[in-house]
Amino acid sequence: MIQTVRGVHDILPDAIPLWQFLEARALAIFGQYGFEEIRTPLFEKTELFARAVGATTDIVEKEMYTFSDRGGDSLSLRPEGTASVVRAFVQQSMHRQLPWKVWYRGPMFRYERPQKGRQRQFHQIGCELFGPEDPLADAELLAMVMRYLTDIGLQTSLVLEINSLGCPDCRPPYRDLLIAFLRQTASHLCDDCQNRMERNPLRVLDCKQERCRAAIATAPVMIDHLCPGCTHHFSRLKGHLEDLERPFRINPHMVRGLDYYNRTAFEVTSVGLGAQNAVAAGGRYDGLVAQMGGTPTPAIGFAMGMERLALLLDQGKNRPAPPDVYLAPLGEQAEQAGLKLAETLRAQGLAVTLNLGGGSLKSQMKRAGRSQARFALMIGEAELEKNVVILKEMALGQQQEIRHSEVPGFLVNTCRTISVGDGHR
Ligand SMILES: [Zn+2]
Ligand SMILES: [Zn+2]
Repeated sequence: MIQTVRGVHDILPDAIPLWQFLEARALAIFGQYGFEEIRTPLFEKTELFARAVGATTDIVEKEMYTFSDRGGDSLSLRPEGTASVVRAFVQQSMHRQLPWKVWYRGPMFRYERPQKGRQRQFHQIGCELFGPEDPLADAELLAMVMRYLTDIGLQTSLVLEINSLGCPDCRPPYRDLLIAFLRQTASHLCDDCQNRMERNPLRVLDCKQERCRAAIATAPVMIDHLCPGCTHHFSRLKGHLEDLERPFRINPHMVRGLDYYNRTAFEVTSVGLGAQNAVAAGGRYDGLVAQMGGTPTPAIGFAMGMERLALLLDQGKNRPAPPDVYLAPLGEQAEQAGLKLAETLRAQGLAVTLNLGGGSLKSQMKRAGRSQARFALMIGEAELEKNVVILKEMALGQQQEIRHSEVPGFLVNTCRTISVGDGHR
């Protein structure tokens, strides 16, 4: 038997209503803020990620699915969404139509050690906003993330953490300061951190190892070394969040795994997930568009892991929406009539499950019960001859004969409220 690749999973029909719900709420809420959806390719030139994400990041060094195609080009499955969106921004000259607000959803690929809520093919919903440098944009984006997460049902357990990562003016001197500090404490750091402290010292602040956390407790932090411009930006962001009465926490050790972030960085965590608890993460990347060859354009964005959201929300309460009608035909001729009737009802907007695979009336009614349909329609030879069907309202157990031609009108009237795509709620 051939099985899925390690760390890669089917999303089975039972889980789909929750996923559709997460996507439908993204469409609705991001739309309220003027974001439109974009769909970028699942694979790109490897060079795109090396340049955008950073050649020295774990993602590019160790985690990408990279391959040569038959023409000899090096391609990679996308490990995240921002690089492709920035590429599209530059390629389509979107700097002429600022602000450009887009959101995306879909699978990303990283060769990581699989664990609960972390997979090698995982799914993200993310937003990118190009144009404004003003912290008003940061505040509005944060308000949008929080509105989304609250709306889907996570309100009680959310914590918003923010930090400033400085800019090309103030980060290099801070970086030197940090490296000097790390050199003195190097013997207390884990192997990973000793390796990366010169190349990517900020990541040391983010290390989950206990010994590193202890060692960097007194390390200098970026927010104490911001230039006046960054200080002003950060304090205005804090002011806007206070105005909006959005509680937040400043986490001076928060860094981003990707090189391109500057100034505002943020994470939303949920207490329900233990150590692996970030449900949304993002920040500013004002220099990336220029770095990718575009007209310099500030930008800010974030991404959310759908597997984690699904884990947090999945209390086993999400069920697919039951059909309006379970259609139970008895015998070949009735099946033929049933097939036609089912199509007629679907054309009227009803959800109809046609019994497949025959069976006695008793077994068909058992399946009708399991489907949780509101009505069952039974057609046998006697009914065919009289041109009627038997309609049963399942919850009441009441049944009546009804003329075949009157079935659509009757059912459409009684099932007028047809729910499309909100099976989760
Ligand atoms: Zn600065
Ligand atoms: Zn470490």
